[in-house]
Amino acid sequence: MTNPLNKEIDIITSNNSKLKNVDFDNLTFGRTFTDYMFVCDYIDGEWQQPKIMPYQAMTFEPSARVFHYGQAVFEGMKAYKDENDNVILFRPEDNLKRINISAARLAMPEFPKDIFMNGLSTLLKLDKDWIKSGVGNSLYIRPFIIATEPAISASPANSYRFIIICSPAKAYYTGKVRVLFAQKYSRSADGGVGFAKAAGNYAAQFYPTSLAQAKGYQQIIWTDANTHEFLEEAGTMNIFFRINNTLITAPTSDRILDGITRRSIIQLAKDNNINIEVRRVSVIEIKEAAKNGSLKEIFGAGTAAVISPISAFEHADEVFEIPDTENSYASLFKNQLLNIQHNLSDDRHGWRFEV
Ligand code: PMP
Repeated sequence: MTNPLNKEIDIITSNNSKLKNVDFDNLTFGRTFTDYMFVCDYIDGEWQQPKIMPYQAMTFEPSARVFHYGQAVFEGMKAYKDENDNVILFRPEDNLKRINISAARLAMPEFPKDIFMNGLSTLLKLDKDWIKSGVGNSLYIRPFIIATEPAISASPANSYRFIIICSPAKAYYTGKVRVLFAQKYSRSADGGVGFAKAAGNYAAQFYPTSLAQAKGYQQIIWTDANTHEFLEEAGTMNIFFRINNTLITAPTSDRILDGITRRSIIQLAKDNNINIEVRRVSVIEIKEAAKNGSLKEIFGAGTAAVISPISAFEHADEVFEIPDTENSYASLFKNQLLNIQHNLSDDRHGWRFEV
């Protein structure tokens, strides 16, 4: 059928929505996918005609390079619906910029901004009934690029596929998490790919995280690979520490993902006149602060959970409990971010993007 929404995208519609079969009160994160997906191939040095089609399985040759060398990058973002049924994205251009930074590091082609913004908006218009209003409801959006060229020599591919799939998400209150400070394993190194959302970064975390989980910890706090003395990221989130009334987060580097939630919290801290320091944070400093009572909060920050407060940490067989704090920064920032995302408060920094 001809494209009713945008002449530049080929759209294949379906009359067979899966929506009626979905129980929105009982969603498991990342298991249910919407009716449509966006697909664009890169062949002979050029991105081809973008398409939107019903979500479906794809076939690839077993020799496709992504299966052998992990040439794959991705993004994670969300769409929200306000009380008037407007669909809102949060800083979407930042995700596009970041997937292109990731792609460049993995010797992959960058994706053009206009096709991305157009493709995403058109996809969300087709899937709009999958986005439920109400704070805590969202549509998780997963753009990704994979190397599709059927060739198994260890070199960058000549063909790629850019895809966007979407999955409805409900924010369940998961409670505070207990974490282990990494002493042996690392997620990234200087000169490496930690700053990129490269698929392999996540595969490499599964094993050490499973060891931590077997010890009763939900997440690992990643430390710097050279010394394991500085605290860098919280699982797949950026990390914040509150010592007395000062908020501290590690500076971004080769090893740390430049999170959009992190960047937003740094700005919100300034807006709220909270003292914010972007600097290295040592394990010793945090253990001392936990001992003398000045450590008030630790929390992770990222798109999926927004803010994930931490109740305890273990380092070198010592366990430290972090008592609850009244007027926590974690809940302040979580509420402020959710209100901006759901169009319930001012958007003084222009972070909302209406589809
Ligand atoms: N660090 C890592 C390693 C991540 O995977 C993510 C999730 N994208 C983040 C931090 C948080 O980034 P954002 O706030 O942009 O979701």
